[in-house]
Amino acid sequence: NHEIHLVERPKAKPTHEHLKIVEKDRPQPDQGEVLVKLLYASVDPYMRGRMSAAKSYIAPFELNAPMEGGVVGEVVESKADTLREGDIITGMLPWKEYTAAKADTLRKIDTSLGPITTSLGILGMPGLTAYFGLIDIGQPKKGETLVVSGAAGAVGSTVAQIGKISGCHVVGIAGSDEKLAYLKNELNVDEVINYKTENVSSQLEKACPNGIDIYFDNVGGNISDAVYPLLNKFARIAQCGAIASYNVPNDQGPRMQMHLIKSSALIKGFTVGDYQDRFHEGFTHLAQWLQEGKLTYEETITEGFENIPDAFFGLFEGTNIGKQLVKIAEP
Ligand code: NDP
Repeated sequence: NHEIHLVERPKAKPTHEHLKIVEKDRPQPDQGEVLVKLLYASVDPYMRGRMSAAKSYIAPFELNAPMEGGVVGEVVESKADTLREGDIITGMLPWKEYTAAKADTLRKIDTSLGPITTSLGILGMPGLTAYFGLIDIGQPKKGETLVVSGAAGAVGSTVAQIGKISGCHVVGIAGSDEKLAYLKNELNVDEVINYKTENVSSQLEKACPNGIDIYFDNVGGNISDAVYPLLNKFARIAQCGAIASYNVPNDQGPRMQMHLIKSSALIKGFTVGDYQDRFHEGFTHLAQWLQEGKLTYEETITEGFENIPDAFFGLFEGTNIGKQLVKIAEP
């Protein structure tokens, strides 16, 4: 039974120096608990924040203890009334091949809604993030221009599609030509920009002839600096992520205040947890669009428990299209 522990806090990019695979005995479930065999682990950019000791909206990971995150697992032993052996569940669990967990912290997956992995992607945290950030903060209207950064990732690719469903002119920014082709050909995104090979400012001007009404920002940094000057009157910015800064201590850049004043724009940071009371609404819409074929999704699946760290590091290199997952075992 292997576990992946945080052994040192990264100052810049996380690497193998910071994580260690440790062997431990398989745990025994107590009354009210189940033994969960890990099937899929989600790796997510926010985990980088929890590797730091800095105060945030969620507690730091402890040193010399397992990292944790969203997982899909199978109940292999039950000492609880609510879950049975063979049930496929999702929840927040440590990076351990087997975990004894309280049954009431886990949710049985409704497998009629889609493959079990969707509960970590389009029908899980990233999907809900895209839905609430765009619908609640972005307030998309037909004919408006929506720019989304990190457009080919788990959140961004969902935002781009909900933007199309809402009738927006959607412009996606991502880091490879393969990702641009995916956005254009599979998701019908109107205009795409490769921020690694193109001048983002001049390409945005071309792609947004009517200016920018909504900016769904997953990355921050230089890309956002190029967006601000093009904001329209009463533009809305959903500040979802800032991955360009996560590994850059004391990151600084141009000022945005004048652009916000000139455009009377509204910028709002959020975490998906702010919408906990409305998860059912978001989930219902996402599941319905998925069933109707209005929404699709991509997954990048790395195989093997020992490769969880590399899959996580890959998020900062852009190796994933859509949701990055790690497959540990078959149900
Ligand atoms: P993604 O699937 O989008 O994976 C991360 C992507 O970020 C990479 O594929 C890469 O794509 C891009 N990236 C990495 N480094 C940089 C960089 N320096 N500059 C620009 N782009 C970079 O992850 P998620 O969809 O899970 O998350 C997207 C963002 O949303 C993250 O910032 C995350 O922290 C945030 N988030 C916020 C939530 C909230 O509640 N507020 C909830 C979930 C996510 P590319 O090849 O295009 O560079």
